[in-house]
Amino acid sequence: MTHDMKILKVGDKEKAICNTCQVLVGVTYQLRDVPFSDQSGVVKDVLVGVCDVCDTVTVLPYQSTPKVKQQLAKQRTSLEVRVPAHMLDILGLASVELGGDTNFIYNIIKYYLHALSNGQLPIKDMDKYLLSDLAKGKAQKRLSLKGKNVAHDIEQLKKLAHIPSTSDLIKSVVLKINDDILVHKNSQPMKFLRSLAAISN
Ligand SMILES: [Zn+2]
Repeated sequence: MTHDMKILKVGDKEKAICNTCQVLVGVTYQLRDVPFSDQSGVVKDVLVGVCDVCDTVTVLPYQSTPKVKQQLAKQRTSLEVRVPAHMLDILGLASVELGGDTNFIYNIIKYYLHALSNGQLPIKDMDKYLLSDLAKGKAQKRLSLKGKNVAHDIEQLKKLAHIPSTSDLIKSVVLKINDDILVHKNSQPMKFLRSLAAISN
């Protein structure tokens, strides 16, 4: 497979068939926000060929494909769960304890998902947390997790911990964070997370 590696610039012009006009039209390259075809998201400021007649995007040049692919991958790897409000409070307090800001709660969860799924942290008794009083409560708050490994780590951990539901799994991880960081001040994960907080702030 060969690609035309001619690099296009904003303002470059060429002729192309416009899908909307159904004829050969003049196309001008511009930076546009391009929505995904299923409307699930948008790629911002990407160089595309715009029809001079109807102003719709008609050409996605090869040089713009890495940006689109990256955005698509990001979209696919984001995951949303609902948890009781006090679970976010636990994460917020853990973040303060570790010296992180409010966004650091995502790093804490991602670290736990990763470390638990690859054996760096013990998964023993993970399912017991779901029987505790703190596991109760209406799942009213949204927790959105993004990252390349999040979905994979969650699937691994579901098998290892024998917790098939994603929201139950996240709940038990939050309660483990509570146990480790707020109750027992477990030094192994705290040492690592403190260093991470110090360089992320
Ligand atoms: Zn057109």
